[in-house]
Amino acid sequence: MDFSLSFEQQALVESLTEFVEKELYPHEDVVERERMVPKEIADDIKRKAREAGFVAMNMPEELGGAGLDYQTMAQVERVMGKPSTALSMLVKRPTKILLGCKGEQVDKYLMPCIRGEKVDCFALTEPHAGSDARAIKTAAVRQNGKWVINGVKQFISYADMADFVILFAVTGTDETPKGPRKRFTAFLIDKGTPGMTIKPMPSICTRGYNPNMIYLDNVTLDDGQILGEEGKGFDFANDWLYSGRIMLAAHCVGRAERVFKMACEWAGTRKAFGKTIGEFQGTGFKIADSAMDIRTAWLLVLECAWKMDQGTVTRHEASMCNLFASEMIGRVTDNAVQIFGGMGMMEEFPIQRFWRDARIERIWEGTSEIHRDVIARDLLKEYRS
Ligand SMILES: Cc1cc2nc3c(=O)[nH]c(=O)nc-3n(C[C@H](O)[C@H](O)[C@H](O)COP(=O)(O)OP(=O)(O)OC[C@H]3O[C@@H](n4cnc5c(N)ncnc54)[C@H](O)[C@@H]3O)c2cc1C
Repeated sequence: MDFSLSFEQQALVESLTEFVEKELYPHEDVVERERMVPKEIADDIKRKAREAGFVAMNMPEELGGAGLDYQTMAQVERVMGKPSTALSMLVKRPTKILLGCKGEQVDKYLMPCIRGEKVDCFALTEPHAGSDARAIKTAAVRQNGKWVINGVKQFISYADMADFVILFAVTGTDETPKGPRKRFTAFLIDKGTPGMTIKPMPSICTRGYNPNMIYLDNVTLDDGQILGEEGKGFDFANDWLYSGRIMLAAHCVGRAERVFKMACEWAGTRKAFGKTIGEFQGTGFKIADSAMDIRTAWLLVLECAWKMDQGTVTRHEASMCNLFASEMIGRVTDNAVQIFGGMGMMEEFPIQRFWRDARIERIWEGTSEIHRDVIARDLLKEYRS
């Protein structure tokens, strides 16, 4: 494996970094204060991202994307992890699940997302079904040639801003040798569809990229709103699960690097007892531990991204990568708060924001416990009776 960057990759990382620092960082405070991205700022960022060619870098070239491989996307996500999540998400890298669009869906959903004109959100979790996704109850029932959907979704990021929802519902039950098994189907639901209500949920993390409740009360859809095939919703989403986990780990690395740099600057200039605090072993060890943590996470990302490109990454490798990076950013931001002392808790410094935002990384894209469970189950598989 050779992880050195090509000339083109290096140029991309540099121009993207410049874009992020110039166009996204200046808006972070207002997003924090207002808990949303003001529309004129969002529109301006989306336009500039389009003009700079930074939209849909993960999508195939023949559809207008940049067609980057996973190794290059890991470099992209590392840079895009540095700004606040709400701003980062405006430089759209559409979910690859949308590649399942067919017929009229291509022009209505896929292409506008690739052009950065439309935004989706992903609605799986329900009040009683988070980690245990197969326990979802939202049901789509066939009535008079249409699908009628009833249920409740919880914690759906960006649903308040999205143009449409990719929503998972139960469309029946199959009898299998292991007993009855639910059929899961993905639907595309436009904002404003009668019967669908979206309500933001105030949270302490990733302000502006807000979680929402979605209520579905007799939402009526045609067959044309099914994404992929009826009853194949999960198989379909699972195809993109590993890359999502690895790219999230790259995000964590980028964010951790930004926090780490701030912590180093503070440790190198803040004085106590006539010395810079970085000269005390108690601070220096935190710097050393954080540096090792970030480096290890990045090596895991690079290895997994390389394996994604070869088509050889395994479920537990993707889980290890996600788990290590999401716990790493918790340790790195906590160390940074400690190094900043009281200033680490003040709103005038972003350290407290990074620390709050880091906490969600151990919950979404699979909790730490679920990832540990996956790793242990895979590694012990051959010994199971
Ligand atoms: C800010 C935010 C944004 C989100 N965005 C989205 C989104 O856009 N779309 C979406 O569909 N979902 C989203 N989610 C939901 C997220 O994926 C879930 O919160 C996550 O899967 C955990 O589910 P839960 O919260 O119901 O916790 P639970 O599943 O109830 O888990 C609670 C605790 O029990 C533990 N636990 C559960 N089962 C096991 C087990 N088998 N072994 C060991 N421990 C276990 C968990 O690890 C956890 O510690 C978001 C959540 C948040 C907070």
